[in-house]
Amino acid sequence: MDLNLLINFSYIISAGMFVFGLKMLSSPATAKKGNTISAIGMLLAVVVALLSQGLDYKWIGVGMVSGTVIGVLAARMVAMTAMPEMVAIFNGFGGAASLLLAWFEYSGKYEGNDLAPLFTAIVLVLSIFIGGMTFSGSMIAYGKLSEKISGKPYLFSGQHIVNIIIVVAALAVSFLFVTNPGAGSQYMYMLIAVALVFGVMSVIPIGGADMPVVIALLNSYSGLAACAAGFVIQNNILIVAGALVGASGIILTNIMCKAMNRSLSNVLFSGFGAVTTAGAGKQQQGEAKPATAEDVFYILEAADSVAFVPGYGLAVAQAQHQVRELGEILEENGTDVQYAIHPVAGRMPGHMNVLLAEANVPYDQLIEMDDINPNMETIDVAVVIGANDVVNPAALDDETSPIYGMPIIEVHRAKTVIVLKRSMNPGFAGIENALFFHDNTRMFFGDAKASITGLIAEFKES
Ligand code: NDP
Repeated sequence: MDLNLLINFSYIISAGMFVFGLKMLSSPATAKKGNTISAIGMLLAVVVALLSQGLDYKWIGVGMVSGTVIGVLAARMVAMTAMPEMVAIFNGFGGAASLLLAWFEYSGKYEGNDLAPLFTAIVLVLSIFIGGMTFSGSMIAYGKLSEKISGKPYLFSGQHIVNIIIVVAALAVSFLFVTNPGAGSQYMYMLIAVALVFGVMSVIPIGGADMPVVIALLNSYSGLAACAAGFVIQNNILIVAGALVGASGIILTNIMCKAMNRSLSNVLFSGFGAVTTAGAGKQQQGEAKPATAEDVFYILEAADSVAFVPGYGLAVAQAQHQVRELGEILEENGTDVQYAIHPVAGRMPGHMNVLLAEANVPYDQLIEMDDINPNMETIDVAVVIGANDVVNPAALDDETSPIYGMPIIEVHRAKTVIVLKRSMNPGFAGIENALFFHDNTRMFFGDAKASITGLIAEFKES
């Protein structure tokens, strides 16, 4: 068989594995397998790409071994709550890789050669520009998420004018590069500099609160940069993989914006979080009613149906195993147990699914927001574990609230609500929650893990 045909055939198999893997990621039941299939597809693509070139494998081996060691260590050591930061860094490296690849290709083949085809010059510009801005933007996103730099939106007067100047500079340098591809490296260096500045300037005005959405968008950009790099080196699988990442990143960005009832332009340009939103919306009336572990035990013991509603606090407390154990005890007690999942609960898409899957919570007990809300009135007890914004009824009925319009899990319609958190402090959006003051709500204060461990002890003693 023709060698080229064999290579492209292998790439088609890899691409198919990526697509099936992605599809399987959409359900927790198949996600693990989907990840493995995609990873095998990537291994196949890398091996075929390497074998099809006459390369110096010594340095490639060094790169692969050190990359594998760093990747495995990073994935194993990172805390679940720090996962968005890690994704930000890896996105940035993806962008940088596309930039370096285009730079290397240009220096090796086209510098001083005015015969570089127009198409190649255009994809070189795209790969360098998108790769560069993805790198610097992702590093700022990492800094904000890890609190190495302030998470506040950085806004200054004249910011729009500065941004317009950067965009004009980017267009001008790109034009000069494309029309004089052999003119030497100076335009490329300028393009790299403008791209890096553009990435920084795009992300600094966005609040740390919106960083996960920005990361999904930057993920999409890193895919587009890789796709352009694929055209530069004419590698079909890089083009396909880049396009898949670009498309899935933009779909994810859209899902996240919808779940927060915000437009993408609102996320990117509104400086959400620039002024403190604490206390925004209606002032709450009445008092929150605290409950002890014993009180909560009696309520749960008598319940026919319980819905756990996990949020960011579950991740902070790492209480997923205790929640699963409590769920099993309740089931043995004859209670119907469900877990209500909000699409943006936690700090990254799928955060709650990942945590609960880690604790082996059965997938069929995970119910999406739109499926559980219509049945909320029939649920005896909704147990909110470290969730706040995603159960805040102000999103439904307080037009002055910054989260007005965001879909929520409507636990306030359950017969009784138990809220597990450490204090009356607000959640991510920085606003009070009227739910805590409702007649049917009891506040069970404390670290979620300790509180649930206490409940389990109550059940075991009874
Ligand atoms: P929130 O951030 O609204 O609330 C989390 C609550 O957990 C806090 O009120 C905190 O209260 C409590 N908590 C923290 N640590 C503990 C602990 N150890 N034990 C018990 N409770 C604890 O989280 P939600 O999940 O409700 O909402 C997610 C927010 O993040 C939304 O505003 C969403 O828009 C935003 N967001 C989510 C993204 C995603 O992809 N998932 C992306 C971008 C934004 P206390 O301090 O009193 O304990």
